[in-house]
Amino acid sequence: MTARAAPAPPAFGRFFLPGPTDVHPEVMAAMQRPMIGHRSGAMELLLAGFEAPLGRLFRTARPVLVGTTSATGFMEMAVRNGVRHRALSIVNGSFSERFANLVRACGKECIRLDVPLGCAVEPDMLRDTLRRTPVDSVTVVHSETSTGVLQDVETLATVVREFDDVLLLVDAVTSLAGSPVETDRWQLDFALTGSQKALALPPGLALGVASERMLERARTLPARGLYFDLVSFLDATTKHQPTNTPAIPLLFALEAQLGRIEREGGVEERWARHDAMRRHVEDWAERRGVAYLPREGRRSWTVSCLKLPQGKGAKQIVGALKQAGWTIGSGYGPLKESTIRIGHMGDHTVAALDELLALLDGLVA
Ligand SMILES: *Cc1c(COP(=O)(O)O)cnc(C)c1O
Repeated sequence: MTARAAPAPPAFGRFFLPGPTDVHPEVMAAMQRPMIGHRSGAMELLLAGFEAPLGRLFRTARPVLVGTTSATGFMEMAVRNGVRHRALSIVNGSFSERFANLVRACGKECIRLDVPLGCAVEPDMLRDTLRRTPVDSVTVVHSETSTGVLQDVETLATVVREFDDVLLLVDAVTSLAGSPVETDRWQLDFALTGSQKALALPPGLALGVASERMLERARTLPARGLYFDLVSFLDATTKHQPTNTPAIPLLFALEAQLGRIEREGGVEERWARHDAMRRHVEDWAERRGVAYLPREGRRSWTVSCLKLPQGKGAKQIVGALKQAGWTIGSGYGPLKESTIRIGHMGDHTVAALDELLALLDGLVA
């Protein structure tokens, strides 16, 4: 019998969707290992090995929770365990709107602070709202993937700390591992991410850190549910145990990726690479006269959202790139045709991004 050669997989490094993003072949290969029991010593060793590198990634001394769920599951964990009665949700795009909807879906009251698409909430705006509207928690999306806006979470956190007993719940899905997130120093009460964005893993894992304040609050809330109960999740994590049967191959992938991040020089080197990528897009856009949706200083390091010139549509540009073997995102929701989104996150390189921008030259200009 002659084995027929499998078709060559598409080259790594051309898939610039703002999530899921490209997964390095070495990380894909790590998932091929045989199963281990989820109550075995091998599992305990695997989970124990995550402790230090995940702490460095989240910049925290607290345990980092790893769950088998998409990131939305940990958004639900944030709400179930962090919102007592009433949350203020900062809404400036699709994912922050999802956070607001989750608050309601969990049977809690949600006050929305809506900001126009492409804008961030400014600290004074948040302070004024919190003075007028007593809440016990605030939800915010750090890097709003639908618009490419980066909120100034560090300053927003200091504003929240001016108020007594208000928790700050942060979706850091496209910021963590791609731009600075200082969980402990900024005193975030819950910071969460998913595997398929700046961590460049396949989808299916969520990761998060809860503050001591958050844990105390959770203990007083009766309807935490089971799958996303912070108290038992944290208890299991400190014993290096999974709560249920985890997605074991994804844990192997995480182990491989944490090793690769350390070899790159750690999270700071990773931030620097993302900083360089976003600057390359900025320089290119300036040279070509292409405008951004967000203003300067409020732009995500992992996803660039660009406004298309009159007469150009996202569908045509995304389609033409697809023909050439490259993938980017069109706009999101109401911005679908008028903007494009380049997800330069995870393991992408400046060199590949430059190739992509050269292709865009002929399409956008
Ligand atoms: C992708 C994304 C999510 C949701 O992730 P899922 O893994 O699909 O649940 C949440 N927030 C932000 C900012 C995202 O980019």
